[in-house]
Amino acid sequence: MEQLQVIRTNQPKHKPNEDELGFGKYFSDHMFVAEYSSEKGWHDSRIIPYGPISLDPSAMVLHYGQEVFEGMKAYRGAEGDIILFRPDMNIRRMNRSCDRLGIPQVEPEWLLQAISKLVEIDHDWIPQRVENSLYIRPFIIATEPCLGVRASQEYKLIIITSPVGAYYSSGLAPVSIYVEDQYVRAVRGGTGEAKTSINYASSIKAQEEAKRQGYSQVLWLDGVEQRYIEEVGSMNVFFKVAGEVITPELNGSILPGVTRDSVIMMLKHWGIPVTERKISVEELFEAHQQGKLEEAFGTGTAAVISPIGAMKWEEQSIEINGGNTGEISGRLYDTITGIQQGKLADPLNWRHLIGKL
Ligand SMILES: *Cc1c(COP(=O)(O)O)cnc(C)c1O
Repeated sequence: MEQLQVIRTNQPKHKPNEDELGFGKYFSDHMFVAEYSSEKGWHDSRIIPYGPISLDPSAMVLHYGQEVFEGMKAYRGAEGDIILFRPDMNIRRMNRSCDRLGIPQVEPEWLLQAISKLVEIDHDWIPQRVENSLYIRPFIIATEPCLGVRASQEYKLIIITSPVGAYYSSGLAPVSIYVEDQYVRAVRGGTGEAKTSINYASSIKAQEEAKRQGYSQVLWLDGVEQRYIEEVGSMNVFFKVAGEVITPELNGSILPGVTRDSVIMMLKHWGIPVTERKISVEELFEAHQQGKLEEAFGTGTAAVISPIGAMKWEEQSIEINGGNTGEISGRLYDTITGIQQGKLADPLNWRHLIGKL
């Protein structure tokens, strides 16, 4: 890595109360910034005080949305270790997202060092409580001032971090889901498997409508037939049907979650049958009619495991596992968060230590 310039803040912020962190409301004292130009590649890496950035109003990201992002967490381990969870997976995915969006890729080792250095500098911002963590958000935006529709020649990579609370402060709480049959999130050949803001912009209206009807997330169906299950909100989704765990196979429009991959690996490690395949919403509701739908849960970095207690599709409303957290959901949550927090053994080598506190 070229020499990383570090300018420390002389006005450290007051840290929020750990009971009231929520998600993504507070930001640490510093941020990482690097620039890209076609002549120089990625350059001018620096860690500077967190604050507003200046952009030309014609910056291409503001008009055509050329952007990618990632989301991961740093944990404070019991022995004073700073722990990242499978950061190589996030970095590889970021480069795949860049490729899809026509954005130049980054050197994986360089990005890992940037993340590590930033977390180290702001290590006081990693919450004390084991269930809380420091969320890390790397993102790249197209900054060239131009209104032509083509790949930008200039980009900014920024990493910000935010202390966050556990999604479920008092135990796992099942959510209710609305099966979206009007809007779709992504189509094959589109950008569904890239982590990019544009997928989110097109999902907000459906999410708001589901909320208005009293559901906390939408379940997305495929964009072609609106029959096959894809994801739930901004999470991947799993179902336990007659003893077998099923998750939609990666088909180009589903985001390949790190938590999804970890759940599949852990289930295999435990010897629990797990299958990646197409599953239609009819099949799922039929399994429920026959008493075979035993559990449902979403997976993602923010919540880790989010049990699904109820679902509505057209006129049918169903309750899953009596509206309670299922056994596998609970076990996966305890195991994966235990590994992330450094409390449990790490049989699949997921922890990446970046230093001592
Ligand atoms: C980030 C994301 C996920 C979850 O991925 P993780 O790597 O497990 O956090 C799932 N779906 C969408 C649309 C996402 O953006």
